[in-house]
Amino acid sequence: MKYDVTVIGSGPGGYVAAIRCAQLGFKTAIVEKYNTLGGTCLNVGCIPSKALLDSSEHFHNAEHTFKEHGIDIPAPKVNFKQMIARKGDVVKANTDGIQFLMKKNKIDVFHGHGSFVDKNTIKVAGEKEETISTDKVIIATGSKPSSLPFINIDKKRVITSTEALELKEIPKHMIIIGGGVIGLELGSVYKRLGADVSVVEFFDRIIPGMDSTMSKELTKSLKKLGVKFYLKHKVTGVEVKGKNVTVKADTPNGEVVELKGDYCLVSIGRRAYTDGLGLENVGITTDKAGRIETDDHLRTSADNIYAIGDVVKGAMLAHKAEEEGVLVAEQLAGQKPHINYNLIPGVVYTWPEVAGVGQTEEQLKEAGKAYKVGSFPYKALGRARASMDTDGLVKILADKTTEEILGVHIIGARAADMIAAGVTAMEFRASAEDVSRMSHAHPTYMEAVKEACLAATDAGPIHM
Ligand code: FAD
Repeated sequence: MKYDVTVIGSGPGGYVAAIRCAQLGFKTAIVEKYNTLGGTCLNVGCIPSKALLDSSEHFHNAEHTFKEHGIDIPAPKVNFKQMIARKGDVVKANTDGIQFLMKKNKIDVFHGHGSFVDKNTIKVAGEKEETISTDKVIIATGSKPSSLPFINIDKKRVITSTEALELKEIPKHMIIIGGGVIGLELGSVYKRLGADVSVVEFFDRIIPGMDSTMSKELTKSLKKLGVKFYLKHKVTGVEVKGKNVTVKADTPNGEVVELKGDYCLVSIGRRAYTDGLGLENVGITTDKAGRIETDDHLRTSADNIYAIGDVVKGAMLAHKAEEEGVLVAEQLAGQKPHINYNLIPGVVYTWPEVAGVGQTEEQLKEAGKAYKVGSFPYKALGRARASMDTDGLVKILADKTTEEILGVHIIGARAADMIAAGVTAMEFRASAEDVSRMSHAHPTYMEAVKEACLAATDAGPIHM
């Protein structure tokens, strides 16, 4: 079998690259070692986590906010088996959708572990062994959860996000190592469902990559929900005895704390996955973190092989992987696409949601850039009051002289969707004044963006 392009890995990077290649007229194959397509994102990442976040949020609202809205119902109960089953149905609908798209675009799907024999030959070890002959290759093999050398992930009591999406019971006390996006999202799910949740974080704040105002506000909201935080704590050991897990950590003042629970979720990040790919057969190297090294065009040291998504440097996000998939496909067709990595938004789907794009205040300070800040709180928004979602704020960072928007950071209801407006404004290099002079429908959460932009100009906000 001879192909123009072979994509290894069917996550959002790989399947999007394959579709764009096929649309551009290349005869395309995709290799996936699991039975279903869609990679981490669709099977054990973005989609199932959001399914459980939404279900647990419905439960939380039924328990805590319905009454105030004037809806009296008997005390709601969680049917966890059904919740997990629904999540499974959502995953299946999405992965089947990718299967359909492969067929529609006439992309040949090979199931099995792909590895390089040489730079134009891929061996697929599936039910039977097959060999693909190919002109170009796109590596999109993604990532796997990381751990610490002294932690034994037994996948029963000491688990990763993958197992946390498939539990058979609601934990009594889930201890989460790592206060990043994945840990906080899954922690929110189980906290809302009734578990005690403790987060142990090495840094002095959660979501350390995001703007520090967002960390502070999210900590407040999650504390209100009942999540306990152990910041500046260094985990030194995890022990399992029967159904009990003990996590030991050094506190900031040199003492040792022991947390006891029934599940420990290790969510300290993810590592690029290239196991068994045969990179040595094509002379491709990885960096210290195990990521495939590429040039700015995502080309590896082998001239016909490209790499995209979590397996290369940059944010480990589905939409970043997708952009890179499109970029490589279009480059292969002789086009000159471009990705603005500064404008890849980051989102945390807790409640309230957190979203950010562009520079954080910490980054601007470090770069010595003169900037202005404009913020607007949700509690001053009519729309937020109407829906009782008043936790949150919008923070706009703008150049001190030109008022060009340099960063948009939102915590609050619908932040995940609202951030697209920040991306659009920044892509067109809008100033805070530009956005503040655009009509925003009333009453909407987006009015907080307009008001925060006003706050970043000399005019000042109207409703505060
Ligand atoms: P992956 O999705 O990891 O896909 C790689 C694929 O390659 C896998 O299917 C794998 O089986 C296959 N593969 C690997 N090696 C081989 C081989 N040798 N042969 C054949 N196949 C191979 N990102 C977001 O943007 N938004 C979110 O809300 C979000 N939520 C997340 C929640 C969780 C719990 C997790 C774990 C991740 C989340 N992410 C989210 C991150 C997102 O899932 C990844 O950034 C994204 O999946 C990366 O896409 P990818 O195509 O690079 O790799």
